[in-house]
Amino acid sequence: MLTAISGINWGDEGKGRMVDLLSSDYDVVVRYQGGNNAGHTVINERGKFILNLLPSGILRESVVNVMGNGMVIDVKHLVEEMGRLTDAGIKITPENLKISDKAVICMPYHVQRDCLEEARLSDKKFGSTRRGIAPSYGDKYMKKALRMGELFDMNALHERLADIVEWENLTVSGVYGAEPISVYAMQEHLKKYGEILKPFICDVSLYLDKAAKAGKKIMFEAQLGALRDIDFGIYPYTSSSNSIAAYAPIGAGIPNHKLDLSIGIMKAYSTCVGEGPFTVEYFGDKAETLRKAGGEYGAATGRPRRVGPFDVVASRYGIRMQGADEIALTKLDVLSMFDEIEVCVAYEKDGQETTDFPFTQGLDGYKPVLKTFKGWKKDISGCRKKEELPKEAIEYIEFIEKATEAKIKYVSVGAEREAYIVL
Ligand code: GDP
Ligand code: MG
Repeated sequence: MLTAISGINWGDEGKGRMVDLLSSDYDVVVRYQGGNNAGHTVINERGKFILNLLPSGILRESVVNVMGNGMVIDVKHLVEEMGRLTDAGIKITPENLKISDKAVICMPYHVQRDCLEEARLSDKKFGSTRRGIAPSYGDKYMKKALRMGELFDMNALHERLADIVEWENLTVSGVYGAEPISVYAMQEHLKKYGEILKPFICDVSLYLDKAAKAGKKIMFEAQLGALRDIDFGIYPYTSSSNSIAAYAPIGAGIPNHKLDLSIGIMKAYSTCVGEGPFTVEYFGDKAETLRKAGGEYGAATGRPRRVGPFDVVASRYGIRMQGADEIALTKLDVLSMFDEIEVCVAYEKDGQETTDFPFTQGLDGYKPVLKTFKGWKKDISGCRKKEELPKEAIEYIEFIEKATEAKIKYVSVGAEREAYIVL
């Protein structure tokens, strides 16, 4: 059984929270793309955890966690994240954490280049998390990246590293005029963290193929949402990898297997971190009220998230791109305080309405067509059955379900593991 859990919107839909909940019947959880720009928040009986690189299944003892070849891994960040969890009493061993030998290493010079470029762009910046993700993927496709499996042979690695650093310096010092990167410092960096990570690095593809054939339940955890996918998102304001579910078997290392189930995580309103077109954006007090109610500040960066009403146009597109068989609608409880709740049902420009999500650059000038619903004005965070929800909340869910042509199976009404309803 192969299941993908991915985001329908711009990210931060509550994927970490849903993976933590649903992974109880899974044997394996795999991260298949992205790097430590992710911020997945999980709150359970063991505490509150923010995971950047580790799969969210790491918080369940029975789950084996895999970091796939589709990821870019900052080895220092990973060692520190593992340390934080170990300090909190989470057991991490080569038995419950396996890192792909084919995953790309995100180096300090990638972070540096990310920062140099954002600084150069100044007010035209893309809103990068400045964690070196785009330069790492860029180098992967330029075939100038180092991969985790290379940490086993430091002599061979040193030779490649020297060539790569020479090439990186053409840009770092030659173009940006920054201090040149030292090969020695990079080698020491890799030696230090590689020594700690080596026991976890293996051919995860072999492991997953065997597990899948043995009928184990495997869950793929995406970072970000459909609208940040490099091909189908709001390019260039996207991430640098494919975040869609269809990529999961590839980024995990088992392209010979197909997904059995795609679960899309969709937020009951819209949020968006960073730059790029966001048609439903609220501003001023209206934005601040919703942002505060939802605690919408980036888990990885602390940045205030842009917020707006639920967007039928973008969500329908996200559901299609994710091939979502089932939806988990999250953070419905956040809307409990509002007298009225708006939903964007179409985009309008020059008197023309559309419900098909436009090409990124064509999004300019579109305004949301809003429909207003009556709020329920009741705390729903304690509801555990559909019947316990106020009728206005049920109407809201049913409208969204119909408008997006989705099957909403779960409704999340709180950040804690147990705060959800199965419809
Ligand atoms: P992810 O990146 O998709 O894993 O999502 P984030 O962790 O970045 O953002 C989701 C935030 O909402 C986290 O702070 C969660 O603890 C919180 N959260 C998730 N589901 C719910 C919910 O149903 N209600 C409320 N109030 N908070 C939620
Ligand atoms: Mg997040």
